[in-house]
Order: sequence, then structure tokens, then C-alpha cells
Amino acid sequence: MTKNRFAKRTDGSLAGGQTGWFQGGASCFTPLARPTPQPAWRIILLGPPGVGKGTQAELLGEQLHTCHLATGDLFRAAKSLDEAGRSPALRNAVEHMKHGELVPDETVLSLVRERVHCLKCSGGFLLDGFPRTVAQAEALEKLLAAEQVHLSAVFNYDLPVEQIISRVFGRLTCAQCKTVYHTAARPPQVAGYCDKCGGKLFQRDDDQPAAVKVRMDAYLNSTRPLIEFYRQRGLLLNIDASGAPDQICRRTCKLVLNR
Ligand code: AMP
Repeated sequence: MTKNRFAKRTDGSLAGGQTGWFQGGASCFTPLARPTPQPAWRIILLGPPGVGKGTQAELLGEQLHTCHLATGDLFRAAKSLDEAGRSPALRNAVEHMKHGELVPDETVLSLVRERVHCLKCSGGFLLDGFPRTVAQAEALEKLLAAEQVHLSAVFNYDLPVEQIISRVFGRLTCAQCKTVYHTAARPPQVAGYCDKCGGKLFQRDDDQPAAVKVRMDAYLNSTRPLIEFYRQRGLLLNIDASGAPDQICRRTCKLVLNR
């Protein structure tokens, strides 16, 4: 088992709770013992598309021994199924995703409800890309209250627009294990191939310029209001997302562990 029990294994397969997240239903894995006295962290990552939430979730997962749960990964997994393997709701979701639009709340919420075991997990979670609208945040609040699960914090990653654009356009994703690279900030050792599993790196459809514009508008109109939503609940922590991924992760850990 890797240091992070939920991390992608070096062969690119998924470990522990990430399998539970991808499969839904009752599939779940017993979390490893946590290093005492560290509590289980239950964290939401907010921030504009391309700010680096996925990379941070991966790094923080190792530091906080917590599972990275990304709704975007569920839709990308649905995209790689053949047409017959997708329900009508998932087919519709994939179409929205290709154009950079938000998937309808009901589709997202039904996928999350099917995976409520991941939210109840004693190992905690790092939610990446969910919630993305006030309606989703309200539904999540009810779901967690019903399960008597309390959020630890909401991290809001902040970066000037020009830097966000350069991050999105340089982003490369492994087709196999989904690890994220960047041509300048986090290049792979061998151009075009993943360091972890050797899978081919590609640019996501929704990282193409037209889709990025739609995603940015969706963020401004639908997701940014969540900053105020969580500020009012005393959960918000603003984090400067400039610099290298490791620096941002250290900055985040310092804030969390001093809380
Ligand atoms: P991400 O990897 O988080 O950038 O998500 C990729 C795409 O999946 C988004 O651009 C949306 O089309 C869709 N998506 C992921 N999570 C959500 C969500 N919580 N609500 C609506 N759409 C989502």
C-alpha cells in the first residue's frame, strides 16, 4: 500500500476509497489507521477552473491521509465508457462536460448520493469540483447533517486570471491514472508520458479555449457565490494559489494544522 491509502498506485490502478468513489453503491474500503493524534479531515476545495485543485487534492491527500473525491473524475470515467454503458443522464452529462458547461444539479447529486459512504468514511475526504452551485452546497449540507458528518474547512484557492489561463492551457492529464502535469510548472520526466504509470498524456476537451471560456463563466456565475456561502458558516480559508504545487501545498498544510 502506498503512503496515501487512497492514492493511485504506481501501476496506475486505483487504491482504497477511490475505487469506492468510482464504483458507487456499497463498495467501500476500510480506511488505514490514521497517525494519531491527527483527526480525519473533511474538506471542500473551491477555486476557479485551472487553479490547481486536482493537483492540490493529490498532494494534500498524502499529507492529510485523506481521500481525493472529484466529481469531474466521475464524468471523465463515464466519457470513456461506450455509448451502451452510459445511462441517459450520464450521456447528457458527458455532452455538457465536453462543452465546459455544468452538468445539471440533479445528475451530480444523484451520483454523490450513491457515494454517501465516501462522505461518511472515517478517513475523511477532500472534495474537488463539488459542490459547484448553491443548490449543490445546500443539498450537501443536508446530506452531511443527516449523517452527522461535520466539515472541517473549505479551502478557497485564489489566483489572478492571467495565471489561471496559463495553467489551464499548459495542463496535461494521464489517460490511464489521471495524474495531472503542466508543461512548465510540473513537466513529466519523459515528454508525453506519465511518470507514475507510463500512460499517454493528453489535453482535456474542456481545456480547449472555447470550453475554458464557458467554464470560467460557469465558475463566476454559479460557483463563486459559494465563497460567501461558506464564509457565513465560518468554514472558509482563503489560500494564495501562486507558486509551485509543493509550495501551495505547504502553505495549505500550515493553515490547516494551525487551525
Ligand atoms: P473538473 O474536473 O472538476 O473541472 O470537472 C470537469 C467537468 O465536469 C466540469 O466542467 C463540468 O462539466 C462537470 N462537473 C464536474 N463536477 C461538477 C459539478 N459538481 N456540477 C456540475 N458539473 C460538474
